[in-house]
Amino acid sequence: MNIDPIAELLVLFICLLASTSTLAWGLMAYPLRIAPRASTYFSLANLLILTGVLLTTLRDQTPSYLYWLGADMLLLLGFVLLRSGTQRLFRLSSSIKIDLALLLLTGLSMLTQPPSIAASDTLGIFFSFMAASTFLLMAKDNLVALEHTVKRPIAVILLSPIALMGVIFGLRALLLLIEPALKSHLASIQSADAIPMLWLYVVMTLWINVIMMGNALTRLVQKMRQQADRDYLTGLWNRRAMQQQLEQLHQRWLRDGQAYSLILFDLDFFKQINDKFGHSAGDAVLVKTAQQIGKVTRAMDIFCRLGGEEFLLVLPGTDGEVAEIIAQKLQQALRQSSLNWQGSLIPISASFGIVTTATGDTPDSLLALADKAMYRAKETGRDRCCTAERRLEQAQATPSQ
Ligand code: GH3
Ligand code: MG
Ligand code: MG
Repeated sequence: MNIDPIAELLVLFICLLASTSTLAWGLMAYPLRIAPRASTYFSLANLLILTGVLLTTLRDQTPSYLYWLGADMLLLLGFVLLRSGTQRLFRLSSSIKIDLALLLLTGLSMLTQPPSIAASDTLGIFFSFMAASTFLLMAKDNLVALEHTVKRPIAVILLSPIALMGVIFGLRALLLLIEPALKSHLASIQSADAIPMLWLYVVMTLWINVIMMGNALTRLVQKMRQQADRDYLTGLWNRRAMQQQLEQLHQRWLRDGQAYSLILFDLDFFKQINDKFGHSAGDAVLVKTAQQIGKVTRAMDIFCRLGGEEFLLVLPGTDGEVAEIIAQKLQQALRQSSLNWQGSLIPISASFGIVTTATGDTPDSLLALADKAMYRAKETGRDRCCTAERRLEQAQATPSQ
């Protein structure tokens, strides 16, 4: 079949975009090593789409499994890889097995048709359904991933081209189902009728790659934020991030009067562990402490490593009584979690200082009170909990106005 010259130009343009994107993602994966796994998926996806489009342009009157089934499968596999790359990028659970099973099902359905122009409407329907579901699910993945980074309306705007692609493929399938006469517009990419559809493909190829690049950058920013806010050894919040969150919580308390508490604790005789078993054993104790305490804390609590072997747990919406019960739970959790280090059991214990908001407090004064209480726990024998002592008139959980 002769290709319409404008259609040919647009096909060439799509190929140019796909090949440039293959190269760009390849560079991201290696040597730049920015999200290397996901970038490899995106590079491969573009390569498959490029090959699929090229094979599609070779379709003519003679039946050919390569130009029909082969081309469609390569394109669809390219879309599936775009989805897998997105999941990889944002550490979402992978759906590749289900996607590949669906792809296989689509391939088997296509095998029921002759690989030629005579069946182009039915083949187009199978292709479009699979493409529509992949793009719509990819849009859902993007929403889940971006919601943590940007506000929901912005996430929706960012993923809209992907969702639009899904909707367009869905409409294409439905139109081909209802009106097979439209097949020269919708199922073929070679005739002049297909030009609007081809323009759409050009814009979408460009947009989707731009979005994926944006996603890769978002992921990079997420990682950098993570490194800035988290303690490298335990993965807990670091002091800087804790102070920001504590300040916000404090402002909320001043506004609505809902008390919060702090539990500050310091591991007992930690230096002896380092001296006796080595620094690595000390590090392992710190990690184990973070894990054990992490099991007892609630999702809303802010757990942080203040530095060295000193930790802080910020408990929103928690009064003094509950805070004391929680501190005892933490103390028990640590006692029961000695570390097995190269055959030796290293017992872990800590001394706890507890404080709850009261009139006139600031985040710094609360931290100082918790610290003082913790030192009292040390002085009175370690492995125990002490509540901050206040002057009598202060000992009520109301904010200053
Ligand atoms: P106490 O019961 O009074 O708290 O005694 P301690 O030995 O726990 O406290 P001390 O302040 O005497 O010693 C703390 C030690 O923690 C000293 C320091 O070298 C060690 N340390 C601080 N940060 C780290 C770390 O990241 N890893 C390891 N392994 N040790 C650390
Ligand atoms: Mg200590
Ligand atoms: Mg200490």
